[in-house]
Amino acid sequence: MRKKILEIIDLTREFKLGDTTLKAVDNVSLSLERGTILGVVGESGSGKSTLARIVMALDKPTEGNVLFEDSDIFGLTSARLRKLRASFQMIFQDPYGSLDPRHRVSRIVAEPLHLEDNPPKGDALRRRIGALLEEVELCKEDMDKYPHEFSGGQRQRIAIARALITKPKLIVADEATSALDLTVQAQILKLILKMRDKHGISVLFITHNIAVVDEICDSVAVMQSGKVVETGTVRQVLDNPQEEYTKRLLSAELNLTNIGRKKYRKGT
Ligand code: ADP
Ligand code: MG
Repeated sequence: MRKKILEIIDLTREFKLGDTTLKAVDNVSLSLERGTILGVVGESGSGKSTLARIVMALDKPTEGNVLFEDSDIFGLTSARLRKLRASFQMIFQDPYGSLDPRHRVSRIVAEPLHLEDNPPKGDALRRRIGALLEEVELCKEDMDKYPHEFSGGQRQRIAIARALITKPKLIVADEATSALDLTVQAQILKLILKMRDKHGISVLFITHNIAVVDEICDSVAVMQSGKVVETGTVRQVLDNPQEEYTKRLLSAELNLTNIGRKKYRKGT
């Protein structure tokens, strides 16, 4: 089995804005080892979400490649890409906007199953949804409720259950805890760590908050203006930052949070 689940190679995404061209992602190369969490951190506008969308094949790069396991995702036929999509799922920032308020939790959580050839139905489906809700520390009965009946943190748990339903190998979390208050944020981070440890899921964890990187990531890439300016293990980069920009991010965050600092990281 390949050690690397994801390789981003020389990736550039340009946007034409009138006469000028903006490089939202500028020649980025990164790799993610199986069963680990790679943090991508940078200020607003540094290109993180653009990178996330390309990794999820929701957008195409101007140049460069994304290898998922051995497949170049932009070189696949649409049928093969559709099959592969079940292997990578995304969790978004806004737990309010990302769940359709008109649908019951059961339908929301089951939605990605359209990517599977033989999705479970009837009782088997309800059992699978119930088990997932319990896994994210909600209860089975919640499947018959609507999103407005839940708090922000609970909605993010529902979003995680939805991401897990196709048994993905990679989850891209884009500011998944940024809208939550600190206590709830810590609970959701713990849940993401549980996914890594229990299912060996690899996570591309995108955040503007370097303190969160310290809590759950194994390695980190620092992005500034579309470029990766520094990369390494969390300890290398956070304990001994080489770039001024990283130092600035660290000093800006230093006093913001210390919930569960370093407590949950693998091997510590
Ligand atoms: P981040 O997630 O780090 O805040 P984004 O990837 O959202 O950054 O944006 C990076 C840059 O690309 C920003 O300057 C943003 O305005 C620009 N951008 C993102 N998407 C588009 C788009 N669809 N069209 C034009 N510019 C875009
Ligand atoms: Mg963003």
